[in-house]
Amino acid sequence: MNPAPGSTGADTGHAVVLGSGISGLCAARVLADFYTRVTVVERDVFPEDGATRRGVPQGAHVHSLTSRGASTLEEFFPGIVAELAADGATVVNALTELDIVFFGSRLLRVPLGEVLQASRPFLEDRLRARVGAVPHIGFRPGMEAVAPVTRNATTVSGVRLARPGPAGSAEVLEADLVVDAMGRAGRGAAWLASLGYEKPAEDRLHVGVGYASRRYRIAPGAAGGDKGVLIGATPARPRGLVLTRQEHDTWVLSQYGFGKANHPPHAPEEFHRFAAELLPAALRDTLRHAEPLTEVAAFAYPASVRRNFHRLRRLPDGLVSIGDAVCSLNPIYGAGMTVAALEAAALRDCLAAGTDGLPRRFYRAAAKASYLSWLFSNLADRSLPYVPGTRPFLTGVLGQAFQATMRAAAVDPAVAAGVWNAVSLSGSPARLAGPRVMASVLRHGARRPRRPHRS
Ligand SMILES: Cc1cc2nc3c(=O)[nH]c(=O)nc-3n(C[C@H](O)[C@H](O)[C@H](O)COP(=O)(O)OP(=O)(O)OC[C@H]3O[C@@H](n4cnc5c(N)ncnc54)[C@H](O)[C@@H]3O)c2cc1C
Repeated sequence: MNPAPGSTGADTGHAVVLGSGISGLCAARVLADFYTRVTVVERDVFPEDGATRRGVPQGAHVHSLTSRGASTLEEFFPGIVAELAADGATVVNALTELDIVFFGSRLLRVPLGEVLQASRPFLEDRLRARVGAVPHIGFRPGMEAVAPVTRNATTVSGVRLARPGPAGSAEVLEADLVVDAMGRAGRGAAWLASLGYEKPAEDRLHVGVGYASRRYRIAPGAAGGDKGVLIGATPARPRGLVLTRQEHDTWVLSQYGFGKANHPPHAPEEFHRFAAELLPAALRDTLRHAEPLTEVAAFAYPASVRRNFHRLRRLPDGLVSIGDAVCSLNPIYGAGMTVAALEAAALRDCLAAGTDGLPRRFYRAAAKASYLSWLFSNLADRSLPYVPGTRPFLTGVLGQAFQATMRAAAVDPAVAAGVWNAVSLSGSPARLAGPRVMASVLRHGARRPRRPHRS
């Protein structure tokens, strides 16, 4: 096997990352330890003021980072969590400062660690600064990746770039490795087909989720002691919301609904009325007096998609896809950035073993990295009767299982910890299937919840 790039001190070539979202930034940082030169190509021009950018429209909506996501970012960018917090991001004690209602029951408010909350542009801006500080990483903003370039039938050797727009100039960027981090619309799969390879089969679960979000300034203390409220959808109610404190006393309210008829409205008055049906009374009042900082932004998320690159028998050398381009999860479970970071860690570990057969080894490792999040979000979605495509019997069983577990998590600290570990990817979800938790779920699960989502 070829040695790991960078391990011999010789020139180890050029890696190109397409897209500078979370997966692109993490991948670039990882590649810098193996390649002499790394270039990040991004279609957008980076905004000066931390605004949401065109290529990442989801940036206007809540972007919570799980504890596992934060600890994985720390591996790439040591000290980043403390830096973000010092810069104004919100550190939240879970669950003493987080009010979480899942499947109709409130998670017991026991201390289970810390979580960092910030807006997506804020997080991306800080990560981009860290990546940009690495001397041999360069950015090419305002350039669009349009096609792969090949050396021979089995090797991708670069990428064709163009400036967006009708009169855009074109150029070829030679590379020893091209990483497609272009998000869920990523072209890696189509590029394989254009090179004569099979396209990866897709697992797709249609969820038809619509988001609407607005940012506010809320004076310190005006929202009470909590720094975040999450009220999830239930089998009987296809709607949910998240209200979290982000950086510098700004908050974001993101509401979502399954199916077009339940998508949240965009007109400010209706948006508030929609939220008022779910929010606890004190927060309804807080919101009424909050200063809006943005208009209401909308986002449609039709389906969770996993592209099974890891099952392909033939893959060209020199090209891998990462992040949402491989696995895009229903955002209501808040795991996409964590999975992107875990896949970048998988890329690092694969490169440490050399470059022979890199795409195949990487896709297998990436499939493992996303497996639990894919499984969890799919099972949760399939337990909701308004998500099409699952037999009613299975939906009923799953719905009862989730609701019973959450009823137990409302009263038993061990079950609350198990649920939190599963959701934040901070511990093994296998604990949820252990005898201690199962006994508690059987004991408490039959109880009917007492209207937990309103105070
Ligand atoms: C509404 C919503 C809410 C979400 N909330 C959360 C959350 O709370 N927590 C969480 O962890 N995750 C959340 N996610 C998921 C999260 O946004 C993604 O999983 C995560 O950003 C990883 O995506 P990525 O970096 O692979 O792609 P993206 O973030 O989509 O970035 C892709 C990048 O590629 C660029 N690009 C695209 N095409 C080209 C091209 N041809 N040439 C050059 N550049 C190109 C784009 O401009 C963009 O910068 C949410 C998603 C949505 C839709």
